[in-house]
Amino acid sequence: MEITEIFETMEYSPAPESPDLALEWLKEHKSKFGLFINGKWCKAKSGKVFSTDNPANGKKLASISEAGKSDVDAAVRAAKLAFPKWKSLSGHERARYLYALARQLQKHSRLFAVLETMDNGKTIRETRDIDIPLVIRHFYHHSGWAQLLESEFPEHIAIGPVGQIIPWNFPLLMLSWKVAPALAAGNTVVLKPAEYTPLTALLFAEICSQVGLPPGVFNLVTGPGQTGSLMVNHSDLKKIAFTGSTDVGRLIREATADTDKKLTLELGGKSPFIIFEDADLDSAIEGLVDAIWFNQGQVCCAGSRLLVQESVAEKVIDRLKKRMAKLRVGDPLDKSMDMGAIIAPIQKERIQNLVDQGKKEGAAIWQWEGKLPQNAEKKGDGCYFPPTLFTNVSPASIIAQTEIFGPVLVSMTFRTTDEAVMLANNSAYGLAASVWSENINQALHVAPKLKCRRGLD
Ligand code: NAD
Repeated sequence: MEITEIFETMEYSPAPESPDLALEWLKEHKSKFGLFINGKWCKAKSGKVFSTDNPANGKKLASISEAGKSDVDAAVRAAKLAFPKWKSLSGHERARYLYALARQLQKHSRLFAVLETMDNGKTIRETRDIDIPLVIRHFYHHSGWAQLLESEFPEHIAIGPVGQIIPWNFPLLMLSWKVAPALAAGNTVVLKPAEYTPLTALLFAEICSQVGLPPGVFNLVTGPGQTGSLMVNHSDLKKIAFTGSTDVGRLIREATADTDKKLTLELGGKSPFIIFEDADLDSAIEGLVDAIWFNQGQVCCAGSRLLVQESVAEKVIDRLKKRMAKLRVGDPLDKSMDMGAIIAPIQKERIQNLVDQGKKEGAAIWQWEGKLPQNAEKKGDGCYFPPTLFTNVSPASIIAQTEIFGPVLVSMTFRTTDEAVMLANNSAYGLAASVWSENINQALHVAPKLKCRRGLD
């Protein structure tokens, strides 16, 4: 292509990040991983394995051990044994370990970013610039808190070995949210990553070993929901910290209801994104792009319900479609992509089913019209879903009420502020919300009326 042509089209060239570093690491491990229990790697006694695939091309990345009952028992035992000593270390001593973990994460940040992108399908732009840097900050941050624990939280004490169960949408970031504060406060951990995305947690376990974290302080069991369920029902775990779907959260709440286990649940959402007529519309649209198409819409607090004031609705939808048409969807390792792959074919199917229901319910659909990549392995459709917009959506419809957990925005209009608040609160969830207005009084009037808080209602 001539330079002049490039100036005219402003077309992007491919800018792929090399997968070599991650492939080498997988090769070093013969693409097979055990469980990390009591500071050692071991095979699952269950003898079962499952595979983790790259959703961008359908290729298998590695074989992962499935922890059964005796494996979970062993991990909890190790965490229980390690607890008294870990708890009795001074905050400063624990901080040194957390600091060392942060340093190692930083040192290997490129490997973590590439590995996360390959295991999850999220763009390298996101893992490299957002997820992994935040993970590192979390460990530094909590190493600070470990030192301040005694002076700032004198009445808080460590509770013992805790079970942590995390989803696939922000694999290492979720790990850091859960592991860093628990270790800082003197608890020991048994962690189960999601079955689709265990690789960065396995690499993290390796780093725990490298920094000399005492055996049993951090244990990693991989496996599907059943492994999580074994943890939930284990009597020696003093707390379960769970992030995932509302349905599973309900099961866990029931299972722990008559026990003295502590419980934290971070569940689903269908968050409203409210645009008033006096908003800076261009800013609001950029905000919306991040709210719903970031991480392929697989975000618990995604702004998945657009509520726009009727007087500007046409203008907003028109500009939004123009902006959507410019999104770049494709190979997640390409540094100039806005959206990568959906986590797994089953999730893509779920999104498609909900979109089909939306069409049946009479909503108008508009989709990005670019070419989606193929599945290299199966020579079929890749695990990609086009950015999608529904208009003319009825507030009671399935697509307005159900968390789609994909790149699908549903939009509705309102006339008055009261109507906006009513529509926003017409949801079984209540995780997040945003208000766009240039009038600070309007924004401060509406914000407290929105029912959104974290956890299970
Ligand atoms: P999921 O509930 O299917 O799985 C989450 C984790 O729980 C996985 O590790 C899974 O193996 C495990 N699990 C499954 N069944 C279990 C059971 N019966 N007992 C114990 N553990 C079990 O959710 P997902 O599909 O991995 O994640 C997507 C969901 O997570 C979405 O609903 C999203 O909104 C939610 N999420 C919430 C937050 C938040 O902070 N509120 C953050 C990220 C994701």
